[in-house]
Amino acid sequence: MGKIEREAGAKAPVFDMAKISQQPTDRVAEAIDAYHEAKSDVARPHLGASILGHHCDRWIWLSFRWAVREKFPGRIRRLFRRGHKEENVITDDLRAIGLDLRHTGYDQQVVELGGHMGGSVDGIIESGVPGAETARHIVEYKTHALKSFEDLLKTCVLDSKPMHWCQMQLYMHGLGIERALYVAVCKNDDRIYTERVRYDPASAEKLLDRGRRISTAERIPDPISTNPSWWKCKFCAAHSFCHERRLTQEVNCRTCAHSTPTDDGKWGCARWKVDHVEVEHQRTGCHAHVLHPDMVPWPIKDSGDSNEAVYEIDGVDVRNGEADAFTFASQELIAGGEACASQEVGEVRRVFPGAKVKEVRDATRLPAESN
Ligand code: SF4
Ligand code: SF4
Repeated sequence: MGKIEREAGAKAPVFDMAKISQQPTDRVAEAIDAYHEAKSDVARPHLGASILGHHCDRWIWLSFRWAVREKFPGRIRRLFRRGHKEENVITDDLRAIGLDLRHTGYDQQVVELGGHMGGSVDGIIESGVPGAETARHIVEYKTHALKSFEDLLKTCVLDSKPMHWCQMQLYMHGLGIERALYVAVCKNDDRIYTERVRYDPASAEKLLDRGRRISTAERIPDPISTNPSWWKCKFCAAHSFCHERRLTQEVNCRTCAHSTPTDDGKWGCARWKVDHVEVEHQRTGCHAHVLHPDMVPWPIKDSGDSNEAVYEIDGVDVRNGEADAFTFASQELIAGGEACASQEVGEVRRVFPGAKVKEVRDATRLPAESN
């Protein structure tokens, strides 16, 4: 092989190693995060046990109605994935110390809680928990960031993570098991914290009552706070819905004024007179969708037509339902908002009934017209 010889007196070459190695690495990281960010979650059909301990009724209602969808950056999605993968590692460790642990991973036990409520538990321990070797437990795994883990060590799962405690109560209730083992792992240094939790029937019943009330509520519950700066609202995915512009961005059966969730866990449709719309159909809805009056910022008026709603936008009556020359589809109202009430849009619509409102552009940023 050739050898690079340096002439006598010549300076040693200087390599800018940092720049060479750093730039492609960042682009790789960006591409990975973009890949994960682009993935979309499938909205869960049921009202999950994991959410029933949430502090805000309104958030539970909005998420169950698929009216506000949480969107996560790629890095956060990768963190979720890491937490998910950790479940197998904890399962292996628990089995290694002698626990008879079943129904984990892809074999998780589904927990029916009646009506729209349900969930799936991380695992069921038949025996072997130190100190309570013969008792059955449900097991719940959670990974924690350092601050959250330290807080848990100082208190207990009920005080530090009440949503997790509620989730376990509901699983115990649904499966008729009176003990839970909470297993927390610190993501920073791999410390493990475990806590045994006792079934509390009164709390479980209260949570189920809450779930029944919220899942079948026709109208939106009150917000927990009207202060947009309150920290829990600031970090909520519904912040802009509650505190800026009350307009859903989602068209599906659950944001439709024609749908009704019933006590038996079904979704009826008054427009097509069916008792239950299948979940897969609910995800896209149909062309007759009408925006739920609690998911738009405009007052509703009497429409005189049970298939349509009339919203008063900027003093103009705007019809919402199956699109035609005089009626706007929900997608158009979401995309166009107040523009749907403008005279210009109304005129175009009457001349070209098939024209659709797709978006609103800032006129000051449009290219100048050429002569
Ligand atoms: S922003 Fe606040 S009030 Fe609105 S859903 Fe979230 S927590 Fe509730
Ligand atoms: S009218 Fe269409 S979108 Fe609305 S609930 Fe019925 S099927 Fe779903």
